[in-house]
Order: sequence, then C-alpha cells, then structure tokens
Amino acid sequence: METVSFAGVKVDNLSLLEAIQRVGKYLQESRPHLIVTPNPEIIVTAQKDHELREIINNADLRVPDGISMVVVSRILGRPLKERVSGIDLMLKIIEKYGDKFKIFLLGSAPGIADEAADKLVQKYPALKIVGTMHGFFGDDLEALQKIENCQPDILFVGLGAGRQEKWLNHHLKNLNLPVAMVIGGSLDVISDRKKRAPFWTQKMGVEWLYRLFTEPQRWKRQLALPKFLWLTFRQR
Ligand code: UDP
Repeated sequence: METVSFAGVKVDNLSLLEAIQRVGKYLQESRPHLIVTPNPEIIVTAQKDHELREIINNADLRVPDGISMVVVSRILGRPLKERVSGIDLMLKIIEKYGDKFKIFLLGSAPGIADEAADKLVQKYPALKIVGTMHGFFGDDLEALQKIENCQPDILFVGLGAGRQEKWLNHHLKNLNLPVAMVIGGSLDVISDRKKRAPFWTQKMGVEWLYRLFTEPQRWKRQLALPKFLWLTFRQR
C-alpha cells in the first residue's frame, strides 16, 4: 500500500472504495486491525505527541481526513487519490458490512451512542448493533467488559482525537475483534445532535470554512491548518 508522509505522519493513498475493500479483508482475519483518520489538526498534535505519531504510523489503515492534505500532496508531487473522511468511511463500513458483522458504538456524551444506533437501524433495518456505551466512563474495565460481553466484530470509538487512538492502541490486542476504528465526534452527527457541513461545502473543499463560521469557538483548533501547511512545506 502506497503511503504519503506529512511532517513524519503517514497516511495511506487509497480511495474510499479501496479503503472499504481493505476493511472487508480485515474482517476475514482474526487479528485486530486499527483504522485511524489523520487530519491536519492531528498531524500538528503528533509533532509533539510522539506516542500518537507512532500509533498512527503503525496503524493498519490511515485515511486522509482533510481536503488540505489532498491539495498539499498534489503540490508536493505525491498526489493522494482523494480525501477519505472518517465519517464517510464509517457509514460505508456500516452500509456494506453491518448486516453480517456485529457492531459496537463507543463514545460521545451519555445517550448519544444510543440515539445514533436508533438512527442507523432506521436506515438499515438489518444492522447488527450489539452494544453501545458513552465515552465518559471513569473505569476502562467497565467499557472493556461491556464490549467483551457483546462480542462485536467492528468497534467504533469516539473519545476525542488523541485519547481514542491511545485507548484503542492500549486495549485492542486484548479485545478479540478484527476491526476497530476511531471516529471522533461522528456519533454526534449521526444522532443528529450536531449538523454536518452541507454537502456542497464538502464537495468544494470548504467544509473547514463553514465550520469556522458556524462554530467560531473552534477557531483555535483551526489554527492547526496554517501550522500544518508550514510544517509540510518546510519538510519539502
Ligand atoms: N468525547 C468522549 N469522551 C471524552 C472526551 C470526548 O466521548 O472523554 C467525545 C465528545 O463527546 C465528542 C468527541 O469525543 O463526541 C469529540 O472528538 P473530536 O474532537 O476528535 O471530534 P471531531 O469534532 O474532531 O470529529
């Protein structure tokens, strides 16, 4: 699999379709596979957080979750095929494999994972969601036991960037399941608690601009974008 590196953080150069096919292969194997979704903010964080960088670089699948990554990759002459957003990949995995493989949703505030599960089952009635749990548990053991009791094949984890990658990296080897993926705040969106940017902004690559205007409190997080550009061009 071809990889493209951004300031020392690797991402895999595959389309959404290719990523889904790869997940299909993982589901046939018994060993656990970790799927991460690096974006410019995570790449900036990973400059100082070496543990996070190692986890991403050693993950089984790393999809580029940022249009700026695609643009930069073209300028640097190592073009990524397309942006593969975490939530798109998650929803496609659910659509394609969710009637055959058992799913567990972990993360977000209490009640949200259940609401997201309800919405998903409304859309895909054959979906096998075997368990949910919120992401504000104090004791890892409680979450691990719940997951183990439900015996899922696919575990989606949204505990916030950084924590979710470390949590999975630490526990995945003890969980007997083939696919685990980090999903950030996707359950907030799927449950309809939070609106995703309109499709046209995603198509035009200005979703970040839309989020800046609609969630101005995120401006600090968005400073990651110029930092990301500086880091990647400096490395050129
Ligand atoms: N979250 C959680 N447990 C925590 C901290 C955060 O479940 O201890 C959840 C939070 O409720 C939200 C998500 O993590 O749903 C936010 O993750 P991130 O900031 O990575 O999401 P993004 O908005 O970038 O998708």
